[in-house]
Amino acid sequence: MEKSKLFLTFVFMEEKGQYISVILPLKLEWEPCYKTVTEEVEIGARVAVTFAGRRYSGVVSDVHVTPGTNPERIRPVDSFLSDLPAVSETEIRFWRRVAEYYLCTVGEVFKAAYPSEKQSGEQMERRQEERLRIRLEAWRSKLDKARTEVTRNRYAGIVAMLERELESAAESPAIYIPIHLTDSQMTALDHVKEVFALGKTALLRGVTGSGKTQIYMALAQKALSEGKSVLYLVPEIALSHQLEERIREVFPQVQVFHSSITPARKRNVAVHCRSGNPYFVLGTRSALFLPHRNLGLIVVDEEHDTSYKQDAPSPRYNGRDVAIMLSRFHGAHVILGSATPSLESIYNASSGIYGLVTLEKRYYEGERPEVRVIDTRAERRKRGMVGCLSRKLLEEMERTLSVKGQVLVLRARRSFAPSVQCSGCGSVVKCPCCNVPMSLHKIGEKEVMICHYCGHTEPYTGQCKKCGGELQPLGSGTQRVEEELRALFPSAVIARLDGDTGDEAAVVRDFSEGRTDILVGTQMVTKGFDFDRLALVAVIHADGLLARPDFRADERALQLLEQFRGRSGRRGEKGLLVIQTDEPDHPVIQALEKSDPGVVGTMLSERRAFSYPPYTRMVAVIVKDSDPARLSSMSAALASELGSIPVSVTGPYAPSVDRIAGQYIRHLRILLQRDRTLKSKKKEIGATVSSFERKNRYAGHIVIDVDPL
Ligand code: ADP
Ligand code: ZN
Repeated sequence: MEKSKLFLTFVFMEEKGQYISVILPLKLEWEPCYKTVTEEVEIGARVAVTFAGRRYSGVVSDVHVTPGTNPERIRPVDSFLSDLPAVSETEIRFWRRVAEYYLCTVGEVFKAAYPSEKQSGEQMERRQEERLRIRLEAWRSKLDKARTEVTRNRYAGIVAMLERELESAAESPAIYIPIHLTDSQMTALDHVKEVFALGKTALLRGVTGSGKTQIYMALAQKALSEGKSVLYLVPEIALSHQLEERIREVFPQVQVFHSSITPARKRNVAVHCRSGNPYFVLGTRSALFLPHRNLGLIVVDEEHDTSYKQDAPSPRYNGRDVAIMLSRFHGAHVILGSATPSLESIYNASSGIYGLVTLEKRYYEGERPEVRVIDTRAERRKRGMVGCLSRKLLEEMERTLSVKGQVLVLRARRSFAPSVQCSGCGSVVKCPCCNVPMSLHKIGEKEVMICHYCGHTEPYTGQCKKCGGELQPLGSGTQRVEEELRALFPSAVIARLDGDTGDEAAVVRDFSEGRTDILVGTQMVTKGFDFDRLALVAVIHADGLLARPDFRADERALQLLEQFRGRSGRRGEKGLLVIQTDEPDHPVIQALEKSDPGVVGTMLSERRAFSYPPYTRMVAVIVKDSDPARLSSMSAALASELGSIPVSVTGPYAPSVDRIAGQYIRHLRILLQRDRTLKSKKKEIGATVSSFERKNRYAGHIVIDVDPL
């Protein structure tokens, strides 16, 4: 038998075999061709091949291809990686769709989907199941033989535990826990189902605490009961333990997936997806690239959140939009939810692409938190400020603390001071590698200056390097706010949550369990928490959020402040949001103060007037170079080539931070009409950039960002 098999292989090598094309995890615009000795190759099979002198594990993307070059020069496949699970054709088609949309290569998407894979997950899983079965049998027979009641109980406990483990190692059968919905939630759910029946994506707009999560869970249960799988996406997972626990109560089989779980756990989730049995994955955007089978529902929670956008590496995708692409390959329904939907989604709803469903009432009957705006310019004149805090805010805090309420303070900049300035020559200390001020941090007793862009660190001497004058910290970051609060409220327990906090989960837990009175932090504190005793939320220096050189600045500020407002007063009591600002008349602040829903319409008409997204599609082209002269000539040349497509190109212009880690940066911006020419124009942009790179040997300097945020 063995001999004849060998012989057959030999014959194939002589006469049979075929050519296949392979997707490699590279930025490669073509799929190289390889020779195999066997006829039986399936699309999706995993192969090891050598390309440009290096070994890669790739995916067979086509079989029986006709080689474009001299067949003599085509290399054979090194080996078939039969221990790696095959990729489905649906996955490959999905990758191609993502690559086409985001103007990147299918290899880059493959790399994002399969970052690294060394061992077969399926095999590991099977081994684990077998091990559990053997142990279970052993303990069962011990239980049968047990003599005393005490031993019997102990063994029975172990048997039960192993049975549970085995159950979850194999397929957890769906257990249905009833989900209770209020009348208005029920109505919203029916409405969502109607939207789904029309084959549309549902946009669920509901204030924080209205029960959007309940509706997602009800829909998930329906999908699972129909034998379909569920993908529940959240922008970030580190701080959504509360959500995870809540979902686990109803769906014990839930599997959590995000970029920082161990490779072994990632493989396990992938195995469940491939098993063909219905599953429930709770994850971040990377979970979109799991080997999904038979998805029935995709939930995109907090759809407006910018964390859904991947900045680097390519593909620079938005998880919300890719979720909709993915759904098409499975016939799955998609629900996008938010208290503050993105203007893109509102536009799509108003033009009938999505179906809008609203949920107005909070579950715990309380009214929406009140908003009080404090004009810090006026307060400064009246000596109403103590450091960066106004006396008015301090009074509110005192009142809240005196009735055992909790306070959450948002300051958008981590650090002690966002910058330092010389009182002699007036110069602001900048990072040597980036065009940004260094911020001052206190680390224990030490004071250091840190660049938030490249991480460059310098000790803080307090003396100007240029003139020897005295350096002065400028403004207040989270650390300084914390320090000032400690001095003002010596008996309160105060904590800080920002990018410098080590154990974030512990800080959140302490606050949610009431051990902390005041929590100060960056944007992190605006997300996803549900605190019972949180009565007052306050923003220090809201101007930092408003004055950004970005056409989305107002939209972002409004979303952030609305989300933050929703954190307070969650259990029937009316909460309060205090905003300290130098610009109390800013339209965003005014809209919040007056609870004016019309502001969204105003923002949309501004976008329309300037032909900005969502009325158009934007493609950004980012050029980087350590040589500023070459950068300006290259970016200008690229702009003119793109202009001849023809598309309207703005730039090259310097972004607000125009040098990072020694690389100078220029941006080009292209606005495209949302019409039938969109697809071909985008394709031409991609082709123009890659031919420009080739022609000028400029690869690695240019990045295309479709739908930049
Ligand atoms: P959202 O997702 O819109 O912020 P949630 O679903 O988190 O709202 O609901 C807010 C709070 O109200 C949660 O603590 C949730 O447990 C509770 N809640 C909402 N709807 C119901 C319901 N129908 N039955 C019981 N509790 C509910
Ligand atoms: Zn730097």
